[in-house]
Amino acid sequence: MTLVQPTWTEAPPARDWPMQVAGIPVEAADGRWLDVHPPSRPETLLARVPRGGAVDVDRAVNAAREAFPGWRAMHFTERQRRLLAIADAVEAHADELARLTAVDTGNAVRTQARPECRVLVDLFRYFGGVAGEVKGVVLPAGDGQLQYSVREPLGVVGAILPWNSPLMIAGMKIPAALAAGNTMVVKAAEDAPLTVLRLAELCAPFLPDGVLNVITGLGIECGAHLVRHPGVDKVSFTGSTAVGLDVGKAAAERLIPASLELGGKNPNIVWPDAVSEETIDGILTAMRFTRQGQSCTAGSRLFLHRSIFDEVLDGLVRKVAQLRIGDPLDEATDMGCLINAKQHRRVASYIEEGLSTPGVSLVYDGADMLPAGLEGYYHAPTIFSGDNEWRLAREEIFGPVMVVVPWEDDDEVLAMANDSNYGLAAYLWCKDVDRALGAARRIEAGWVQVNQGGGQMVGQSYGGFKQSGIGREVSLEGMLEGFTQIKQINVRLSR
Ligand code: NAD
Repeated sequence: MTLVQPTWTEAPPARDWPMQVAGIPVEAADGRWLDVHPPSRPETLLARVPRGGAVDVDRAVNAAREAFPGWRAMHFTERQRRLLAIADAVEAHADELARLTAVDTGNAVRTQARPECRVLVDLFRYFGGVAGEVKGVVLPAGDGQLQYSVREPLGVVGAILPWNSPLMIAGMKIPAALAAGNTMVVKAAEDAPLTVLRLAELCAPFLPDGVLNVITGLGIECGAHLVRHPGVDKVSFTGSTAVGLDVGKAAAERLIPASLELGGKNPNIVWPDAVSEETIDGILTAMRFTRQGQSCTAGSRLFLHRSIFDEVLDGLVRKVAQLRIGDPLDEATDMGCLINAKQHRRVASYIEEGLSTPGVSLVYDGADMLPAGLEGYYHAPTIFSGDNEWRLAREEIFGPVMVVVPWEDDDEVLAMANDSNYGLAAYLWCKDVDRALGAARRIEAGWVQVNQGGGQMVGQSYGGFKQSGIGREVSLEGMLEGFTQIKQINVRLSR
């Protein structure tokens, strides 16, 4: 098949996209490619990206190893200057990147892709700003001793990205690892590789060759080689819990550190005193319907107090029905499409199961929200009510499917919220401060939000409890714990 330049407005140029290794664009060593079809237009072969294998991983890791001594030796203000320059360059190209994200991921440009690019810029600025905080302490060890610690970079970081918000997750890893003096090999997800390759192009003029290498390929080939490569000193993985377990085992076999940002099935709990239009808007935001529910932090288990169950659900349904599903590039679109056919089938099968499960009722079926004539993997919002036990309330669907469960007292709802293998995020809607903060303390999740449902704030610690992962990113503490190690130096002074 040959690449086809699409005729739709704002289509990026159809082309082959190289990887970035050792400062230059490269193809796969064996010349293999992966086809890229935008999820909103699966009939169009828009691009090809290299199908990187063991040799390509090896090249990229070697390039990162060679670049490491020079990069770590730099004064932090110089690394800082370069990260801030990248932030400016990304900001200058933000609109292009946002449109490319919409094409690459199916996420709507206005509601998702543009805000994601803003977060990427902020993350480069934030980690550039804190680059000087990679420092140690001096002990009050008395005369005759100088006892101090230094924080050193780990070496080469292998980072693996998912497809759902590739730029934001690249932003959680790349500037943090680089600010701390590490070099990197980043593997983009095979389902949304273009934005990450474009980011690599934008970063290249500001970084010495080999400091940031970006490769593409299948998870089981390219990703599996990267996490097992002997030249990789740390793995930072974001993706599913199933793959994360495998990545964690591979890292453990080599005794290298691994941060794992994995899945979630997050509780969204509403107390009677919090019912308002603002809360309902917030629940919608937390559910990430405008990212088609394809978010690890989606508040997809909605627990409504029985006394306000119907009122909140009616309000929610009214607002969900107003969401406009459409072409991700259209500024009027609220909600774009799912990433691929497999994910589309998976979501449909959960819905079929919900429809045939006794005791479960369909509260809202948005099927008639789907405009006619759309070619991509579109799925409308669907809301079920039932209990916390059935499969749809326990498994991460990663689609626009919400389950609603009634509750009566705080102990009961917190027990249900915590009755999950996951523990990534939680949303508490409650105006009584004592009650809300008491619940926040008891919730088993790495990130709890009270009376708000937005995305991660730059500088906060982000990561999961239980099967949602290990390690924290996005914050200074996450950078220090995740991308540096402590060396203690004790010196005997003779005078
Ligand atoms: P995935 O686990 O299928 O793939 C993630 C990445 O891992 C891809 O780049 C893939 O190529 C690679 N990969 C696959 N198999 C591999 C292997 N054996 N060895 C090494 N790498 C391999 O996940 P996905 O479908 O891309 O993303 C969706 C999942 O990611 C969801 O479960 C979601 O909850 C999770 N996620 C978590 C966070 C978070 O911050 N906690 C953020 C976004 C997505």
